[in-house]
Amino acid sequence: MSKILDCAIIGGGPAGLTAGLYTTRGGLENVVMFEKGMPGGQITNSSEIENYPGVTGEITGMDLMMPWPAQCSKFGLVHEMVNVTRVSKDAETFTIHIEGGETVQAHSVIMATGSRPRRAGFKGEEEFFGRGISTCATCDGFFYKDKEVVIIGGGDTALEEALYLAKICSKVYLVHRRDTFRSAPNTVERVKNTKNIEIILNATPDEVYGDTMGVTGIRIEDKDGHQRDIEVPGVFIFVGNDVNNQTLIQEDGSFLCDMNEAGQVIVDLSMRTSVPGLFAAGDMRIEAPKQVISAAGDGAVAALQAISYVDELLS
Ligand code: FAD
Ligand code: NAP
Repeated sequence: MSKILDCAIIGGGPAGLTAGLYTTRGGLENVVMFEKGMPGGQITNSSEIENYPGVTGEITGMDLMMPWPAQCSKFGLVHEMVNVTRVSKDAETFTIHIEGGETVQAHSVIMATGSRPRRAGFKGEEEFFGRGISTCATCDGFFYKDKEVVIIGGGDTALEEALYLAKICSKVYLVHRRDTFRSAPNTVERVKNTKNIEIILNATPDEVYGDTMGVTGIRIEDKDGHQRDIEVPGVFIFVGNDVNNQTLIQEDGSFLCDMNEAGQVIVDLSMRTSVPGLFAAGDMRIEAPKQVISAAGDGAVAALQAISYVDELLS
């Protein structure tokens, strides 16, 4: 890959894939999407998506994303399954640093590395991660068929995954630290109306414990300091996400472009960052609605801007 790419897209979720579709279809040549896993992004972990316009019926995130990569490759998008460690810029050319030492140069870059599940920060969380503690209900829910599980969190993910797990597990305890949920009202109603979901409000996890086989229980504490032990083999944590911004960190520790205090990329309405030719789209940008539809919209906007930027640069 010695030729300078017109555009390098980092990340292959809804934002990166849409950027890939629009850049290639819009006339850029040599566009590569660097995605370390299978394309699709974090929505492929979702058991149900019901708010993507025009897509009705019960479908999973995986179902939704399945056709996107093929649609992109039809127009010439190339997927490189590699982990990008850093993006840097010298004069007018960007360098994409790939794990293992390879580098690739590009005239423009669209960052779309999304976000990852956050840890809640209680005793036993790291020790039992992957041995009874999970952040993915679709991946691990079936291990707890006809068993009881605890969910920590009070946002859309926690409530939607509670509904999913309630269909597999005998009982779901939904533990939230406040007395109101940060979730769509319709979802809250569905959770409240599900018989095998017990809602526990104003409580936080204190400790997850277990034995050599894995988790055997969790101790939670309410705001008055009262503790309660719930004996379960599985604990699911859905307490939000952190932005994947590591690839923008330079050798001297600074970020390549301006970021806010939460580590999100500052962009304008055209998804332009503070560095000419560098765009950011999807969950990693400031004020992202964190939706598939908005990530895809960002990807399209960033792609149109990248096309104009490259046209001007090379004219
Ligand atoms: P992501 O989907 O996070 O994709 C980023 C991609 O970048 C990933 O594939 C990752 O592997 C790749 N990547 C990261 N770093 C690197 C690197 N260094 N090198 C190479 N590749 C890299 N939204 C809705 O609209 N409706 C829903 O019902 C809904 N349900 C959800 C349920 C769950 C469980 C979760 C977790 C999220 C849900 N969301 C939902 C939110 C939605 O998934 C995100 O808003 C959307 O996926 C963001 O897209 P993105 O392209 O910005 O990032
Ligand atoms: P979120 O909206 O940030 O909610 C995180 C939840 O975890 C909050 O209820 C928070 O409590 C709680 N929490 C945070 N840290 C905690 C800790 N250390 N211990 C205990 N609880 C903790 O995250 P999310 O639910 O993953 O959603 C992320 C984004 O994706 C949101 O914008 C969401 O709307 C979107 N999303 C959308 C859909 C959909 O549209 N159907 C589905 C899933 C996700 P507080 O409420 O007290 O802050």
